[in-house]
Amino acid sequence: MSFTNEYLQRVYADVVKKNLNEPEFLQAVRKVLESLQPVAERRPELEKNGVFERIVEPERTIIFRVPWVDDSGKIQVNRGFRVQFNSAIGPYKGGLRLHPSVNLSIIKFLGFEQIFKNSLTGLPIGGGKGGSDFDPKGKSEAEIMRFCQSFMTELQRHIGPDTDVPAGDIGVGGREIGYLYGQYKRIRNEFTGVLTGKGLSFGGSLARTEATGFGLCYFTKEMLAAAGKTFEGKRVVVSGSGNVAIYANQKATQLGGKVVAMSDSNGYIVDENGIDFQVIQVIKEQKRDRIKTYLNFVPTARYVEGSTGIWTVPCDIALPCATQNELDKAGAEALVKSGCYAVAEGANMPSTPEALEVFQASGVLFGPAKAANAGGVATSALEMCQNSQRLSWTFEEVDAKLHDIMVNIYHNAANAAKEYGMAGNLVAGANIAGFLKVADAMLWQGIAY
Ligand code: NDP
Repeated sequence: MSFTNEYLQRVYADVVKKNLNEPEFLQAVRKVLESLQPVAERRPELEKNGVFERIVEPERTIIFRVPWVDDSGKIQVNRGFRVQFNSAIGPYKGGLRLHPSVNLSIIKFLGFEQIFKNSLTGLPIGGGKGGSDFDPKGKSEAEIMRFCQSFMTELQRHIGPDTDVPAGDIGVGGREIGYLYGQYKRIRNEFTGVLTGKGLSFGGSLARTEATGFGLCYFTKEMLAAAGKTFEGKRVVVSGSGNVAIYANQKATQLGGKVVAMSDSNGYIVDENGIDFQVIQVIKEQKRDRIKTYLNFVPTARYVEGSTGIWTVPCDIALPCATQNELDKAGAEALVKSGCYAVAEGANMPSTPEALEVFQASGVLFGPAKAANAGGVATSALEMCQNSQRLSWTFEEVDAKLHDIMVNIYHNAANAAKEYGMAGNLVAGANIAGFLKVADAMLWQGIAY
């Protein structure tokens, strides 16, 4: 798709001018604005009220110093970010990422996408994202704790249960959320639902750990069903081996699929008998080791160095669950060549624009991240509900709500695509459905003169 609407093309040109060094952010904005062209044409009041210009500019961007002391007594300094992008429909909500690649562009792209994803869940949550260029790999427990405490010492003044509720993302799991929560409570002297993904003993929700991966498979099941297909007996490739990937494997397997390949940033494993998610859990969650050690558990499996080759493993369904831009044109072509007919994004923006073009041109069923991986943030919002009520729901209750939310997201995206003349295009449908709710709230709330 490209720009045919002059007004949105101008809006995008202005975003480019203001954010020249932010390629990931520009990539995300462009994709969204392109698919909103029919909306701009049908709803002229949105242009009149500057909704598009406003939605591409974060409400607030916080960048801060995170000093901490390593185990040798040396002072280390990282950069912390929190982008509070849009609060039109609820408190800012979005994860914290700890990875050396983190910069303003990546946090802004994620925060921008989060606006529409959160809106799609049907729950009252705005869009935000944060993180740091701190690399948790190879750090001791004590170093991780000191970093998290220093990070929260600054972040705490900007967040709150009715203002901004961060969660985990790459490099931030239950351990880090625990340290962050402890420091927030210490400084603010309040026990509130200010973070989600918490431990079960202090306000966490059952099924939050599984939610993104499970939700991805519920969405995919619905997308397949609309095309008369199922997971039953199908070969599935899942990239990554972190939180999203592990539970995508578990649910895809429960639904009758066979996960034949998984990866980490070093390489990928192939197990024709189906990869047991519990082995990956041990390697990644307990030992924090590399995926190639899967061969110690299952010697008949195969390990290949280099992660991008995973897309050459023949499959019916591909679930990219690692990181942004991990699936490029060559990967997409390899998937199509091997007969893959469905791709659903567990990671945020894992497919490059060129890969997406290949899928769309080949008629591959395609579930975009902001719809397909919304189960994590949806369950985070359910955790916020439980915290406000001071209640804990059962695993089954949360899982059933998650399932219904994912089914609704699929149908809302599919219906919006149809209504705007792009039937079957879930990328456009998800952008349109997510955008409209936020845009209407922005219209109602007026502009501060
Ligand atoms: P984790 O940190 O738990 O896992 C990330 C995994 O991806 C690790 O196995 C990592 O391997 C691997 N990885 C990183 N880069 C590459 C690469 N280039 N090729 C192959 N594997 C790679 O993160 P999550 O599972 O939480 O997040 C994964 C993605 O899902 C991210 O895009 C995140 O934004 C998105 N997401 C996560 C949600 C959640 O609830 N956790 C919710 C919605 C989206 P290694 O150990 O080698 O780094």
